[in-house]
Amino acid sequence: MFLEIRGIKKSFGTGDSRVNVLKGLDLNIEKGEFCVLLGPSGSGKSTLLNIIGGIDGADEGSITIEGERLEDMTEKKLSMYRRKHLGYIFQMYNLIPNLTVRENIEVGAYLSEQPLDVDELLHTLGLYEHQRKLPNQLSGGQQQRTAIGRAIVKNPDILLCDEPTGALDYHTSKEILKLIETVNQRYGNTIIMVTHNDAIKDMADRVVKLRDGMIRKNYRNEVKIPAIDLEW
Ligand code: ADP
Ligand code: MG
Repeated sequence: MFLEIRGIKKSFGTGDSRVNVLKGLDLNIEKGEFCVLLGPSGSGKSTLLNIIGGIDGADEGSITIEGERLEDMTEKKLSMYRRKHLGYIFQMYNLIPNLTVRENIEVGAYLSEQPLDVDELLHTLGLYEHQRKLPNQLSGGQQQRTAIGRAIVKNPDILLCDEPTGALDYHTSKEILKLIETVNQRYGNTIIMVTHNDAIKDMADRVVKLRDGMIRKNYRNEVKIPAIDLEW
């Protein structure tokens, strides 16, 4: 198994204000899978992504990627791991304002052993014509495309997306999700995405629903999903 998540528990705070956010999660994700994580606000979706990404540590349990446990890595190794093998896309794009589209993407290739071809990537992202523009000359969707480029130019094994379309209108959101699907198909990156956007229903390979610190549903979508119920 490519990514094994076992018995993950996580709480925040102490004493009376202690909150048990994750109460023992198990999940297997295959290489190249496009996995969508759904759940109400506060259910621990971002916490789980941060634990998978090695940004935060679990209280109990283990994350194993291609046979290697994150908990056993030294700080230095973990930091190299994050730089080389993980891409992160957030709701906020956080582009560098005085760098062009192309330069913002090139920043992401720093330290990568096998970066993607930037020209090809610019074409894939529909940004080739905009590559010399600065972030403030772009629409929200174009800014997020640039952020996607920065995250995937190093060709990460795992792309973690935390509500990547949260700041975009419905139409642009759909475009961005479609683009992430294209990235998944073209480059084969394993994708774990938190989203509320129902356009995802045709795209994901696996759907995982989190509620009250537990996984309530977890199914592989062999023919892609007929309809995800987004109701709780
Ligand atoms: P989601 O992404 O599903 O909305 P989060 O993972 O962000 O949920 O948060 C889950 C719960 O954990 C929330 O109640 C949140 O307030 C709490 N939480 C998250 N991070 C911290 C933190 N660093 N310190 C204290 N509480 C936190
Ligand atoms: Mg969140």
